[in-house]
Amino acid sequence: MPDDPFAPAGETTLDPHDWEALRELGHRMVDEMLEYQRSVRERPVWQPVPSEVKAQLQQPLPHDGVGEDAAYEAFRELVLPYPMGNIHPRFWGWVIGTGSPYGMLAEMLAAGMNPNVGGGEHGAAHVEMQVLDWCKEMLGYPREASGLLVSGGSMANLVALTAARNARAGFDVREDGVGAAPRELRVYASAEVHSSVQKAVELLGLGKRALRLVPVDDDFRIDVAALERAVEEDREDGRRPLCVVGCAGTVNTGAVDDLDALAGVCERHGLWFHVDGAFGALAALVPELEGKLRGMERADSVAFDLHKWMYMPYEAGCVLVRDEEEHRHAFSLTPDYLVHAERGIASGGAWFSDYGVQLSRGFRALKIWLTLSAYGADRFTALIRQNVAQARYLADLVEADERLELLAPVELNIVCFRFLGAADEEARDALNREIVAELHERGIAVPSVTKIRGHAALRVAITNHRSRREDFEELVRAVKRLGAELEPARHGGRLPTG
Ligand SMILES: *Cc1c(COP(=O)(O)O)cnc(C)c1O
Repeated sequence: MPDDPFAPAGETTLDPHDWEALRELGHRMVDEMLEYQRSVRERPVWQPVPSEVKAQLQQPLPHDGVGEDAAYEAFRELVLPYPMGNIHPRFWGWVIGTGSPYGMLAEMLAAGMNPNVGGGEHGAAHVEMQVLDWCKEMLGYPREASGLLVSGGSMANLVALTAARNARAGFDVREDGVGAAPRELRVYASAEVHSSVQKAVELLGLGKRALRLVPVDDDFRIDVAALERAVEEDREDGRRPLCVVGCAGTVNTGAVDDLDALAGVCERHGLWFHVDGAFGALAALVPELEGKLRGMERADSVAFDLHKWMYMPYEAGCVLVRDEEEHRHAFSLTPDYLVHAERGIASGGAWFSDYGVQLSRGFRALKIWLTLSAYGADRFTALIRQNVAQARYLADLVEADERLELLAPVELNIVCFRFLGAADEEARDALNREIVAELHERGIAVPSVTKIRGHAALRVAITNHRSRREDFEELVRAVKRLGAELEPARHGGRLPTG
């Protein structure tokens, strides 16, 4: 008879064989990661991953482990030297946050406790409730609203638009499905809306066509009159308008729609008003900027990120929904094995899984709770204000230079500009793209590229607590140096300026 592999002989565990040795390794990890963060300014922003390293990261599944120390060494050699770069003071690509040293330690504590915050009566659930209340307070949103921490803005938009669809479809979407819609459903947003809104509309089964993109004005804000006409037109044509998505900080230029006017349109037409404030909603913390967001407090739902302009480690997004019942009705599902109890762990009011897609959920709230507790909201007000001041400073540097052109108004923390070289528009676009690639590859700085009114633009989005004014001076110097260097060789010489 073969040995029974399920016999109880050699039980094992993932607890360390030698706790002292792991403790020592853990202390080294903490020391080395804090040092890595302290010294980040001294390294290039980004470096390509060498092909030998990529090859080493394509090994078959290890059946016998190398041990904790050797595995950590592999991380130090193969992973740590090739970061995305977003914790560096000169990283401003897309809209990507930096995290913080204290946030990193908080993540370690969260993983140590490792609760499942799908629901139940335990400390982590109460921390999340506390953090949600703080989020409402930071945004000036009604305290009775419900909310949920999610992976990020994309998930927050999906959760909010699910609630919007179900609340305003006019039939029971959960029971009958979108196929039962007697009329075509419609969602409205400006042409500058983030792609995650389209993704959400598609995932909700409405089809891309259901997202009607409304033109923007010269400042990239939604044309409210055109929106209202579109809603009326769709009504007359027998469609059913559901929801308007307002942008509080567009991803391209940081433009903020007239949210108060959008709230008015939604009220008049009985539509759900959602605000995508992924980064811009946090400008509500700054008294001088708060006015730009007037009307956000009237929204039926708001999506925003704490891993962008609150500098939390990934992942941390948040959705707030004004009407708790509508929020819960979109997601709540309680099979026998999840029945909420009167007593024990399964009691308590915080069943987060009733408000979103995830059942199992990590302890995202801890890093937010600890960081806000440690530094206070005013520190974040100061940092957000500082990033806006830096954006204005960069815009001034650009405008003061005849070889650079500012391509969009600086509403919040995003600056779009280009180098005015090359003989024609096409070559100029190529030159600006090449400048960005060189900035990345030489490890100098990371802006990203976008198109503004058809022109390739360097786009600098500042959600970085490590940046200093001198970093923007260095960026401008480098762009001009690279422009001058690359232009004659490949882009047909300079245009006469003037
Ligand atoms: C980043 C962003 C999103 C998506 O958020 P994720 O956290 O990346 O999922 C949505 N809208 C806007 C305006 C954004 O900037």
